[in-house]
Amino acid sequence: MSERVIPLVDQRIASRPATLPSVPIAATGLLGDQLGRPLRDLRISVTDRCNFRCSYCMPKEVFDKDYPYLPHSALLSFEEITRLARQFVAHGVQKIRLTGGEPLLRKNVEILIEQLAALRTVEGKPLDITLTTNGSLLERKAALLKAAGLQRVTVSLDGLDDTVFRAMNDVDYPVADVLRGIEAAQAAGLGPIKVNMVVKRGTNDHEILPMARHFKGTGIVLRFIEYMDVGATNGWRMDEVMPSADVVKHLHSELPLVQLAPSAPGETAERWGYADAHGQHDVAAGEIGVISSVTQAFCRDCNRARLSTEGKLYLCLFANEGHDLKPLVRANATDEQLASAIAAIWHRRSDRYSELRASLPPDASTGGRRVEMSYIGG
Ligand code: SAM
Ligand code: SF4
Ligand code: SF4
Repeated sequence: MSERVIPLVDQRIASRPATLPSVPIAATGLLGDQLGRPLRDLRISVTDRCNFRCSYCMPKEVFDKDYPYLPHSALLSFEEITRLARQFVAHGVQKIRLTGGEPLLRKNVEILIEQLAALRTVEGKPLDITLTTNGSLLERKAALLKAAGLQRVTVSLDGLDDTVFRAMNDVDYPVADVLRGIEAAQAAGLGPIKVNMVVKRGTNDHEILPMARHFKGTGIVLRFIEYMDVGATNGWRMDEVMPSADVVKHLHSELPLVQLAPSAPGETAERWGYADAHGQHDVAAGEIGVISSVTQAFCRDCNRARLSTEGKLYLCLFANEGHDLKPLVRANATDEQLASAIAAIWHRRSDRYSELRASLPPDASTGGRRVEMSYIGG
């Protein structure tokens, strides 16, 4: 195997304080960026810590016991998160996803969910609130999360073969415990549940069919994610990416599929339904999704903003700089001022890294420095 160089950079220092525009910008729900993209989806990272060490996200060699995780005082409090979320919602956000790190490690995260669930969209509707988790604490917390107002969960699981999965999470965590978490989520009514599988060629691509067979007909939507070049520590190589087109072809050889229409604008997953004997979608058998972040860019419709654990706003998963909202929040800026600062940042947004990736020399857009996925969430 070839040697990998894993650069050690702390991207969290790269940020600029958010400032107030000279002319205030009121929240109208109609915010647009440089490419006319609205702001609809907010992903909030509630912790930079995790109990797994997935090699594609938090490799052990970097995220060891000496890694400088954020001190508690640097984290936004639940009240600060909710206050910021309210301004994002006023600008048109309809969906909030809690992530991390492992979001269920944040103490009393259900209290935050309760606060977010009380927010209303510009149209006066409840928000779509979801959470992405590795599932390890789901069995214990599913009922509590549901009672707090969480609607659904996405659970990450990279295979059913215990040896493969234990090696990929690199903390020897068993498949059976994640499956129990998924069952608990189902029993609590946290659905429709999605299961995310990151496919690494040569590592877990032989788990594609077993995973599909397992979740077919259960009402759970399995989604295959292309291994992405996020962050600066996972030693990403293009030859380890299995293009979604190959995943679909592989599945189709045993489980015929028909393509389905996207469920919403800006939807990241391409949907495929299991076909019946007549080549029509067999609704009872369900569907799968493929997320082609590497081979098929979907920047044109990207309506997602990411808020880091310490209050920095990132406009793209591949951004090398955040916009620090915490100083404004802690300096007691008014709600109008916070909304104005967020609008000014979104107005300037022109990020479309995945569309440009193919035409860029390696790391050209970021100077080789990128924020880690565990810091801003997926
Ligand atoms: N710890 C939680 C989990 O694993 O579900 C939430 C945070 S994790 C960063 C969010 C999602 O990002 C997970 O589904 C994970 O598999 C995915 N992810 C992390 N690193 C990735 C990479 N390099 N390429 C593609 N997906 C990745
Ligand atoms: Fe942890 Fe999720 Fe990253 Fe795995 S993908 S190391 S579970 S944050
Ligand atoms: Fe959105 Fe950036 Fe991903 Fe493009 S690369 S889809 S702009 S997060």
